[in-house]
Amino acid sequence: MSLVVQKFGGSSVGSVEKIKNVARRVLEYANEGHRMVVVLSAMAGQTDGLIDLAKEMAEDPDPRELDVLMATGEQVSVALLCMAIQSMDREARSLLGFQVPIMTDRLYGKARIQDIDTQRIMDELAKGRVVAVAGFQGLDESGNITTLGRGGSDTTAVALAAALGADLCEIFTDVEGVFTTDPSICPKARKMEAISYDEMLEMASLGAKVLDIRSVEFAKKFNVPIHVRSTFTKEKGTMVVAETKDMEKVMVSGVAYNKNEARVTITKVPDRPGIAAQIFEPIFQAGIVVDMIVQNTSEDGITDLTFTVPKPDFYKTMKLVGPVAQDIGAEKVLGDEDIAKVSIIGVGMRNHAGVAQRMFQALAGDNINIVMISTSEIKVSCVIEEKYTELAVRVLHKAFGLEEEGGGKT
Ligand code: ADP
Ligand code: ASP
Ligand code: MG
Repeated sequence: MSLVVQKFGGSSVGSVEKIKNVARRVLEYANEGHRMVVVLSAMAGQTDGLIDLAKEMAEDPDPRELDVLMATGEQVSVALLCMAIQSMDREARSLLGFQVPIMTDRLYGKARIQDIDTQRIMDELAKGRVVAVAGFQGLDESGNITTLGRGGSDTTAVALAAALGADLCEIFTDVEGVFTTDPSICPKARKMEAISYDEMLEMASLGAKVLDIRSVEFAKKFNVPIHVRSTFTKEKGTMVVAETKDMEKVMVSGVAYNKNEARVTITKVPDRPGIAAQIFEPIFQAGIVVDMIVQNTSEDGITDLTFTVPKPDFYKTMKLVGPVAQDIGAEKVLGDEDIAKVSIIGVGMRNHAGVAQRMFQALAGDNINIVMISTSEIKVSCVIEEKYTELAVRVLHKAFGLEEEGGGKT
């Protein structure tokens, strides 16, 4: 008898009717004899609503209490799903993170799963029950409720699949799989049959929110194949799996974008040892994650330094950098929140020259100015003005042949 983990996202459980639909889907599998563990997100909009409530209460809410609050969204959906399944004459049991327990570190709001005790889930399954586990939440070693960060229910599902040795892990969402780019902004995006863990990691880290990046890290580490598919159709979706030889034939397999970063530039920075360390120290101490960093070649011992940070950390970063810039005798600090990062991704890039150049030409063809560039073995990213994001995504999608069946080849 196989063990299946299925995760349903917020839009899939957004109403009573939708939860009943999920119950029916889960029961189709259960009635075939599969043991079912179902991970749910909060109903659509709930988590945002809870954050808004907290912000009404305090400008900078206490992280522990914020996690206690945010974890309630998933509590509602698992309870409702179990009621729906029970009303269809099947036994079901909901489990919150702390009841499993799913143990995490103590980083509120972005906790990492450290250990999952599978005993209680196995006991419930052995009684013939469907088990519904609340996504996105865990417990630290001091007994505090933690949450895993936005989109974290994907991670709960994949980590559970790994811990339980599940035969299948399915992520149900509001699109039919992983597409060549976000189908909501590019109508010509195509569903991929399969994508490698490494490409999916890049896609997720560069902004494609269809899978949470940490869920893909878990999947890669424990070799859990993920099937991403739609809650609302029976179509086969996309398999996220280890790389195969075939995948290398495709030079670029996807385009991603991220509007959630801001740029900071410090002008006329004295170019001497220790300066970068001095500038980034307070940013690092504040737990702010710096993404791209560009330093120009110096002229007369003076240079410019530009870097990007997540938009929510922009003002804090500007406040931290101001005094340091003064201390080191730099000229001024400039900031820009209206930027976006567009990226092309593909494991096939390793074997092809000129990929970046083709990207630059495509953007130039539509008069889109490139502000910053960064590359790795399997991606090229460009920072551009935010207002050109959608245009840039469509232009790149076309330029790399992704509109056509079997596209992305040289
Ligand atoms: P869920 O609520 O099920 O977790 P999310 O909203 O987190 O769903 O993720 C699904 C969304 O991800 C889609 O509606 C789509 O707009 C977006 N998305 C971004 N990039 C991609 C991509 N390359 N393929 C598919 N969906 C993508
Ligand atoms: N409910 C959480 C969120 O909205 C977790 C999730 O949906 O995966 O981010
Ligand atoms: Mg999600």
